[in-house]
Amino acid sequence: MGFKNFIINLAPTSLVQVFANPYVAGDSIEKAISTAKGFWDKRKICSTIDLLGEEIENDEEVDYTVGVYSRLIDALGEQEFATISLKPTQLGSHRSTEHCQNVIEGIVAHAEKYGTKVTLDMEDHTLTDMTLEIFRNIKQDHPTFGTVIQSRLFRTDEDIKSLAGLNARIRHCIGIYNEPKDIAMQHKSEMKKKLLEQVEVLFKEGHYPEIGTHDKAVLDEAINIAERLNMKKDQYEVQMLMGVPMGDYQDQLIKNGICVRLYVPFAEKWVYATAYAKRRLAANPAMAIYIAKNLVQKITGKK
Ligand SMILES: Cc1cc2nc3c(=O)[nH]c(=O)nc-3n(C[C@H](O)[C@H](O)[C@H](O)COP(=O)(O)OP(=O)(O)OC[C@H]3O[C@@H](n4cnc5c(N)ncnc54)[C@H](O)[C@@H]3O)c2cc1C
Repeated sequence: MGFKNFIINLAPTSLVQVFANPYVAGDSIEKAISTAKGFWDKRKICSTIDLLGEEIENDEEVDYTVGVYSRLIDALGEQEFATISLKPTQLGSHRSTEHCQNVIEGIVAHAEKYGTKVTLDMEDHTLTDMTLEIFRNIKQDHPTFGTVIQSRLFRTDEDIKSLAGLNARIRHCIGIYNEPKDIAMQHKSEMKKKLLEQVEVLFKEGHYPEIGTHDKAVLDEAINIAERLNMKKDQYEVQMLMGVPMGDYQDQLIKNGICVRLYVPFAEKWVYATAYAKRRLAANPAMAIYIAKNLVQKITGKK
């Protein structure tokens, strides 16, 4: 664990909550939907709404999570501005791949009745095989189901080959989880170079890439690749996290006819949001420094 992550892990939950506020839509389905609807009504920005929570290892909490997704889907109804994102470790991966697949398929089938698309997020490397297996199996009967790949993992070129012919919605990102050096790149510049190479392959193989990054240079280059390959603007999209301040750039993309989708997470119980919030803070050096200063002040009693 790096020093930055060490400091963030020490931070009191209340402090994390204050700084994570820009990254989280609120503590209810209503707040999540009104945030997403606000993005759409004001700026024509789409959303993917995510119930925060991961590493759930008991059936009651899985049932609770399924219930929240079910209420979210009904409350969204038929609409054009939001998809839904979810994770295997909030939906039964602790039991078995088959069980998790059944749980997720239930949610996907429910969402499909309203025309709402669902994306299966990618967690750390211990879940990659399971996530892709569940994705492939559910995709057969639910064509709009999508998933995520991570350019930092050495295996991803092979994973892309294994998705050939599926014409899938695939969010492509560098990956947020620190992974061991025998299986993953360690430098962001390498991960981003690879991401661009792989976006080109995704286009050529007929997938719908959802390019998930806040790096303008990477996005500009991905759009150049799309144009060089004569892709239409409805054959890909750009995704960013709510809370990362890139509004002007997003508005410019939308003006140019490119779909921009924000990740809009919410949690009915803050405890489920903590791991996500800490990862976001670790990606934001300015906030990490502020937390470090605040901790030192608390420890030394100095203002
Ligand atoms: C919509 C979406 C969904 C994602 N889903 C997954 C997933 O399923 N699995 C997974 O492993 N990863 C996921 N990620 C995370 C992704 O893999 C990266 O870790 C994350 O996007 C940061 O990488 P970057 O490409 O933006 O580059 P970076 O170099 O990290 O960021 C580029 C610039 O963006 C700004 N920035 C980035 N993050 C923040 C922040 N939190 N606060 C303020 N500024 C910031 C900074 O200015 C930074 O210099 C997702 C990302 C997005 C946008």
